[in-house]
Amino acid sequence: CGIVGYVGQRGSLEVLLGGLKRLEYRGYDSAGVAVLAPSGELGTAKKAGKLGNLTDELRAHPVTDGHTGIGHTRWATHGGPTDENAHPHLGDGGKLALIHNGIIENFSELKAELIERGHSFSSETDTEIAALLVGDAYRETHDLTAAMLAVVNRLEGAFTLLAVHANEPDVVVGARRNSPLVVGLGEGENFLGSDVAAFVAYTKQAMEIGQDQLVTIRPGSVDVVDFAGSPVESRRFEVDWDA
Ligand code: GLU
Repeated sequence: CGIVGYVGQRGSLEVLLGGLKRLEYRGYDSAGVAVLAPSGELGTAKKAGKLGNLTDELRAHPVTDGHTGIGHTRWATHGGPTDENAHPHLGDGGKLALIHNGIIENFSELKAELIERGHSFSSETDTEIAALLVGDAYRETHDLTAAMLAVVNRLEGAFTLLAVHANEPDVVVGARRNSPLVVGLGEGENFLGSDVAAFVAYTKQAMEIGQDQLVTIRPGSVDVVDFAGSPVESRRFEVDWDA
């Protein structure tokens, strides 16, 4: 339902939890984060209920914060509002974390394929299929952008996806089809959001991600391609927001 991503110099948890707070107006039933420590260690926390449950969980079971991460508030469509079904979902043996807004319509075929390949599932969501597929693609490509690109063309329905991988500690990759995604442009830092509320506290410089496009953010760069992998020129705009 609400999505935020960050790469830069700030502590990522503060940016992610602040962004999720500003996306609360959309409504949600669960929340979660995945952050990459500078060492590349991936830390995740997710909880059903309000953001306060997630911050309690982070106090009880702290993760090592870094400067890269993704955050999600969920509005359940596939699987009830439980801790297990909350996002992020994991792939590549726990090295990849992925969050999702929307509905993957062809998830049951893809799930059957993954079961055939020997995967088991820890949730009832459509989202976990995407996490496992991108994780498997990463094992072939060793590149998060290429892994996402290999999978998005196979997904039908509506999705905004963000993913991070332990091997790429300063990268967040996002993709969208029939669901919104916006980039927030900073100095030595960049943001992703399901809407500008996710990052407007930090920057008013934004960039539109078009239908069937994929974006790779690093602290010093933003690269956008279409789902065929060809570079795209994106429209920049200033957020008109009296915060
Ligand atoms: N379909 C996904 C789920 O049920 C994502 C829902 C959302 O957009 O929050 O977990």
